[in-house]
Amino acid sequence: MSKVIVSSLYDSDVFKMACRQFDKAADAISLPETIRDRTKYPRRCFAVTLPIRRDDGSVTVFEGYRVQHNLSTGPAKGGIRFAPHVTIGEVAALAMWMSWKCSLVGLPYGGAKGGVIVDTNKLSQVELERLARRYMQEMIPFIGPHVDIPAPDMGTNEKMMGWMMDTYSSHMGHVEGAVITGKGGSQGRREATGAGVAYLVKRYLEDLKIPIKKATVVVQGFGNVGSEAALALDNYGAKVIAISDYTTGIYNPKGINLAKAMACIRSGHTLRDFDGGEEITNDEILTLKCTVLVPAALERVITPSNAAKLQCRVLAEAANGPTTNQADKIIDERGDIEIIPDVLCNSGGVIVSYFEWLQNLQNYYWSREEVLTKMFAILDKAKESVEAQKKKFAFSRRLAALTLGIQRVADAKQSRGLFP
Ligand code: NAD
Repeated sequence: MSKVIVSSLYDSDVFKMACRQFDKAADAISLPETIRDRTKYPRRCFAVTLPIRRDDGSVTVFEGYRVQHNLSTGPAKGGIRFAPHVTIGEVAALAMWMSWKCSLVGLPYGGAKGGVIVDTNKLSQVELERLARRYMQEMIPFIGPHVDIPAPDMGTNEKMMGWMMDTYSSHMGHVEGAVITGKGGSQGRREATGAGVAYLVKRYLEDLKIPIKKATVVVQGFGNVGSEAALALDNYGAKVIAISDYTTGIYNPKGINLAKAMACIRSGHTLRDFDGGEEITNDEILTLKCTVLVPAALERVITPSNAAKLQCRVLAEAANGPTTNQADKIIDERGDIEIIPDVLCNSGGVIVSYFEWLQNLQNYYWSREEVLTKMFAILDKAKESVEAQKKKFAFSRRLAALTLGIQRVADAKQSRGLFP
């Protein structure tokens, strides 16, 4: 028998949600008690304080975290989030999902996640650089190309990953590109997550016999993932009718001019400054009538209060954990919406991060076409394995994906044994 003694360190709605998902999946595959808790709980976590000199000469202290959930299947892998709402519980849940995701798509990684509590809109570029570098400086003893390899997530980007790589390399005395991904170290990484989301949407629409050229798309969160998914779906011939960011949503039934929306964001503005349609709220955007709904911002936005009102045919979870467990149940019972669960849907990002890591370790570089073709092949294989598991055990697609991911992590722990 296993006995678990855990504190309330990670206590939060999102961590509880990830734990309940795990429990349900573990029950479904009858995971032995002796392996359950050590597969479920994070292996270790770090909390750091980050004093930063502000442009006016004052000093502000920020707080940051890194949670390494699983190191049994390879070095840990996961993004770093800079956002005001970050908690260690949220980071732990995201780290847990990274474990299942890497495992589901067959990458030789464990799962991790990092975060800093900060509103990046309130910092200058120089202050942001100091914060990114200080975070990496504090993490040096705990990460490395064969220990834990971070990447971007909400509120962080290629430039910040570059500063972090430079900080680590300066400390080591040599260039160490493979310590971090999403820094411009591989062709195709910036667009990988969104391109992967769009590719899977296309494949599922084919299964449903819905012509993509007749599909309408709504995207909540027009950031890295959301904007790239929108662009790729638009390229496939779908019509994107609504997008949003943290300030507002924009709805245009004739189709959003994505090039203009991108130009608006790239020039440092928000969608509030974009006049490409009618303004709607971030709640309203989720219940618009559309073929494909892509939540690409925060977790827990699809809840019992809006799940019954969704009017999409496909729910493509580009964000991590966008659907609460209760909402998931409601959608399951409705039976008219196909969910592409997060651990599958947004896995293109970590797949190409893996390619970036490989290329950086070898200093041998691939073309963009090679990168994306290899990513699509892995996504196809993962989709196939999820569909087979779903059919074999009559699971929901989410349960199929989670059980596959969790089983592989548990198997690795089982075969490696318990030390000491
Ligand atoms: P990002 O910071 O580039 O974009 C986030 C977007 O969400 C922005 O448009 C922002 O304005 C919007 N947003 C923030 N708060 C919001 C709110 N309260 N309501 C509505 N919109 C809000 O981040 P990203 O890298 O695109 O990540 C988005 C999601 O995708 C996250 O859940 C992240 O964990 C997940 N994800 C990212 C990657 C990656 O490679 N970047 C990979 C896998 C999963």
